[in-house]
Amino acid sequence: MNTYKAKAYSTASADSPLSSTTIQRRDPTEHDVQIEILFCGVCHSDLHTARNEWGGTVYPVVPGHEILGRVVSVGSAVRKYKRGDLAAVGCMVDSDGTCKYCKAGREQFCPNLILTYGFPDRHLGGVTHGGYSDSIVVDQRFVLRVPDNLDPAAAAPLLCAGITTYSPLRDWGVGAGKKVGVVGLGGLGHVGVKLAHAFGAHVVVFTTSPGKKDDALQLGADDVIVSRDANQMQKHAGTFDFILDTVSAEHDIDAYLNLLAVEGNLTLVGAPPKPLPVSAFTLIGGRRSLSGSNIGGTLETQEMLDFCSANDITADVEIIPIQKINEAYERLLKSDVKYRFVIDMASLRSE
Ligand code: NAP
Ligand code: ZN
Repeated sequence: MNTYKAKAYSTASADSPLSSTTIQRRDPTEHDVQIEILFCGVCHSDLHTARNEWGGTVYPVVPGHEILGRVVSVGSAVRKYKRGDLAAVGCMVDSDGTCKYCKAGREQFCPNLILTYGFPDRHLGGVTHGGYSDSIVVDQRFVLRVPDNLDPAAAAPLLCAGITTYSPLRDWGVGAGKKVGVVGLGGLGHVGVKLAHAFGAHVVVFTTSPGKKDDALQLGADDVIVSRDANQMQKHAGTFDFILDTVSAEHDIDAYLNLLAVEGNLTLVGAPPKPLPVSAFTLIGGRRSLSGSNIGGTLETQEMLDFCSANDITADVEIIPIQKINEAYERLLKSDVKYRFVIDMASLRSE
């Protein structure tokens, strides 16, 4: 198979910084879309993976799954996209296309799902390389349309932070008359707040950062609770219909389960590397439930982008050159991001 060279940033081990490199991309096949990457969001999953916090990282790894760019060429069988279109790619780039989940556009559950980075590349061998790069080639099934009215840099994070929060908020019927909590005001959390507010819910933000209070209200929260204050937490005991937990590190989820009303649900989307203890009695007492959610399928991702277009929702972003990526990771670890770093890929040209 013919290939071409693309510029990228990768890391070779859990404790080395990301640095400039060159990778091979396949020449587009008949079903492929070749995209010049303009912007790529920086998800905390990129950091977990680069530093092997979940285990199993294959090095060198090129992270990045909030990809937005311009179509530069399409294969002969591609009808949905043409050269010059804005297009986006999220966390998935391939799947078997034949299982019941793929048929329903819920590819995130396909047993043969290939994620955007670090998964077997069935075209070139080795593993897939993500969006910290100037170019990517992706099967048209995993390319999303980007509505024109959305600012491209601010829309990029919707491809992971957007769909990961949209999907469980929709599944659990978040809307008018519901009291909803969002735990952690980072990349996922701040988009979750905007979406839950747009769905008409009463939204309460839980943060460990008192300095984010005003921002939370601006983003659409009706109330903000500093979670380290046990008194404030206690006031809301047993009152929430739904809580979305986006925290990336160890924390006390029992404290949040206690805030659920009878039959309330807490959905974890945050993926801390270590297990989180749960008290049986917290769940049993109010017949509460704890569940998880993983990104969303292509159909729902397109639905989410169209919803964001209609409601003028994008991420609040801090645009960085790729040369600042290691610094950005350190700031992510300190919860010091307002509220998503997005790499301007034009900065890669000088490498
Ligand atoms: P992020 O921007 O770093 O936000 C995480 C937020 O969690 C921080 O801003 C902080 O909010 C809070 N936090 C951090 N450390 C904490 C601690 N020790 N105790 C309590 N709160 C803490 O990360 P992100 O990109 O939104 O990702 C969040 C998590 O979701 C990551 O684990 C990521 O891997 C995972 N994720 C899952 C999926 C999925 O499909 N399920 C998809 C994407 C990402 P405050 O300052 O407000 O406290
Ligand atoms: Zn992500």
